[in-house]
Amino acid sequence: MNRAYKFRVYPNREQRELLDKTFGCCRFIYNKMLEERKTVYGQKKNDKKALNNYKYKTEKQYKQEFECLKEVDSKALQSEWRNLQSAYRNFFSGLKKGRKVGFPKFKSKKNKQTYTTFSINNNCKIDFEKRKIKLPKINTWINYRDDRIFTEEIKHITVSKNRSGKYHASIVIERESTFTPRQDLEDNKIIGFDMSAPKFLIAKEIEFVNPRFYRMEQKKLKRLHRELSRKQKGSNNKKKSNLKLANLYNKINNRKKDWMHKVSHLLSKHFDCVILEDLNIKGMQHFNSGLSKSVTLDFSWNYFVNILTYKMEQKGKHLILIDRYFPSSKMCSLCGYVNNQLRLDDRKWTCQECNIEHNRDINASINIRSKGLEILKENRIKIIRNNDRTVGTTGFAFGEDVRLINQQFLRKKEATSL
Ligand SMILES: [Zn+2]
Repeated sequence: MNRAYKFRVYPNREQRELLDKTFGCCRFIYNKMLEERKTVYGQKKNDKKALNNYKYKTEKQYKQEFECLKEVDSKALQSEWRNLQSAYRNFFSGLKKGRKVGFPKFKSKKNKQTYTTFSINNNCKIDFEKRKIKLPKINTWINYRDDRIFTEEIKHITVSKNRSGKYHASIVIERESTFTPRQDLEDNKIIGFDMSAPKFLIAKEIEFVNPRFYRMEQKKLKRLHRELSRKQKGSNNKKKSNLKLANLYNKINNRKKDWMHKVSHLLSKHFDCVILEDLNIKGMQHFNSGLSKSVTLDFSWNYFVNILTYKMEQKGKHLILIDRYFPSSKMCSLCGYVNNQLRLDDRKWTCQECNIEHNRDINASINIRSKGLEILKENRIKIIRNNDRTVGTTGFAFGEDVRLINQQFLRKKEATSL
């Protein structure tokens, strides 16, 4: 299993120049290679064989043509070739499936800058004591700030500079999971959640409400965007405005990620198995067509699922994602009747068959949990029933009095146990 550590790094002026140069060269070679492919594609559009057999220039040839490329990390240049290959492949496989995929795009100076280098012969090193990192082709050690330590060998490092001008190094190592997944789970430590955009995770017993950091700052963001648009192109004021905006976006993003880490930490700590729907964010946007754009920014579902997966795996616990076409909302969790008349904005509904009244999200979460239990059983995982009502799913792990987990609860928890 790959594990990434993202460290904020603090290059000095000289190092910054070298890093910036590497970003520039990587972008340059990527764009050059793309240009070549674009031209060839334009000429031989329908001749796939010709496209594949065409002798594109190699990194070596580019280096001969453009001397300056020799001054930067060659592994970084090579990974640009790999990046382009995969973008190109995606484009073709998209065409094949009849999807509308654009041709790979040129890299722009305006976006976040990155390059990836591979660790070979110990050319990437970390001194945890002095908090310094050594990158290929950069002769001096770069300072970083982070407390984390690991013992595994470095596989590769992605260096980035975001739009606020901050540098990070994302260090990837391979870690063998020493945890074997548990083969028997306690029934009351299995929880299913419905994901609903105005909130976040909903179950009968608890819910996690997204504080929605983007929406909170929406006014400020709007003001800064307006300010930016008034500034003259190329002026220093425009740059300053740009930086302000990028900083605010960063700050919001960090707060959101922090919150998601806390939620996933709590879940992995208290439950043996978490069952969720395998959502795609595009579908969710559609589902929430009435909600603002900030929803997309506030609900990083994939990010959340990724960190939760990792945290559960590390403890030998289970995360189950239910097929997104499972009719979790439309199905009566009591009798199984499927209500095809249910509209997207129906928050409550009554089952025609058994007359029970449902809360849309809670009913869905019960269905998601049942579906998850089925999958556990199919995988021969033993479920230990616990009939002791006092230990029921009801917020047991969070203390008797806590049924609803919201932002305030997390803040309180933070002070005590987190
Ligand atoms: Zn029913």
